[in-house]
Amino acid sequence: MKAILFLCLALLSPLSAAELRISTDFDGGSATIDAIDSAKREIQIRPGGNPARGWACWWFVRIDGLGDGENATLVLRGSERSTRNNGQDTGKPLSQDWAMPIAAAVSDDGKTWRQTGLGTRETDRISYPLEGTGGPLWVAWGPPFTPRETEALIDEAAKARPDLVHPFTLAETREGRPVRALQIIAEGGPEKKPAIWIHARQHAWESGSSWVARGLVEWLLGDSAEAKRLREQAEVIVVPIMDVDRVVTGDGGKEADPHDHNRDWFETPHYPEVAAAQARMKAYVAEGRLAVVLDLHNPAPRDLRPFFFVGPPELLSETARANRERFLDLAASHLAGPPALDPKARVTGANYHPLWRRISGQWVNDHGNEHTLAACLETSWNTRHSTTDGYRTVGRQLGEALAAYLAPPAP
Ligand SMILES: [Zn+2]
Repeated sequence: MKAILFLCLALLSPLSAAELRISTDFDGGSATIDAIDSAKREIQIRPGGNPARGWACWWFVRIDGLGDGENATLVLRGSERSTRNNGQDTGKPLSQDWAMPIAAAVSDDGKTWRQTGLGTRETDRISYPLEGTGGPLWVAWGPPFTPRETEALIDEAAKARPDLVHPFTLAETREGRPVRALQIIAEGGPEKKPAIWIHARQHAWESGSSWVARGLVEWLLGDSAEAKRLREQAEVIVVPIMDVDRVVTGDGGKEADPHDHNRDWFETPHYPEVAAAQARMKAYVAEGRLAVVLDLHNPAPRDLRPFFFVGPPELLSETARANRERFLDLAASHLAGPPALDPKARVTGANYHPLWRRISGQWVNDHGNEHTLAACLETSWNTRHSTTDGYRTVGRQLGEALAAYLAPPAP
């Protein structure tokens, strides 16, 4: 009897639970591990990024050893490393809020993502509840999107619509990785089609923006009359990840040394993918057909609705200003969410960042055609809708807004 009781206690005791293991040795993986308490079923981590490669707010781990239905806790603190801002080392860590979504993204297979329960926030930490499935558990700041997801999107799209989808490599990064992209164009329609250029992840940590890009591609290849019309009428380029290097190494990208991708839009870009994007856009401009350039991002922790950032209106031609107002009106009616767009666009300018003139949207305003529309869409990451489905909804509705924007005037 005593022996049986002891056995039962041993089975119930946390001391008998499997050892918890944590790893980050995969694309996008990132964490500094402070403690693993297998008895308490608690793991303590911080974002692992190198501030010289951008804001250390991204984190992404694989956890092994959690039994089916077993509960555990992931305790996250902010990075302690000094961060860069406005192009300089600030001597202080980044505000931990950037690393602490209200709920984390979790997956059993590293591909399909859901949210954890709400994290419990205390002064210097947030604790996310985990539930094991008996296999590995992937947990991240938000749904990850690495070059593997770009390839999956390209494969699915090219298989579904080989007649429309033309994959290409935009550039090879400084660290030797391909920056893959899709051109979507249908036979027929006007000879000189307006070009729509969409890129995401100029800031590596903003993984949600790549899911927005994915949602747009899915919609554009779908059966709706609006999608069909848009792909016949326009040529669409989508680059799901610009800063491939820092996405792969699990770094934040934003404010990287010497500057990040979205402060690289000048005569001599540091990043080959920015130079290649500029060259392609210039070719469209030379043909008079650069219609739209959209730059996809995730915003600050307290921005709970998606919104557009645009350059100062006084620097635009009258045509470009009118086009932008029309597009923003259409976006406000189409991006109904959830999450729904905040219809009030924000204007960036000299007081936003010392290198504001080198932001891609401003470069497009300076180098585009007279009618070119440039805008940056910031999709909120810190909400219950900041999921792969929520981001894809934004992408689909963005496609609908673009279709309405380029629709031929009613006869
Ligand atoms: Zn950004």
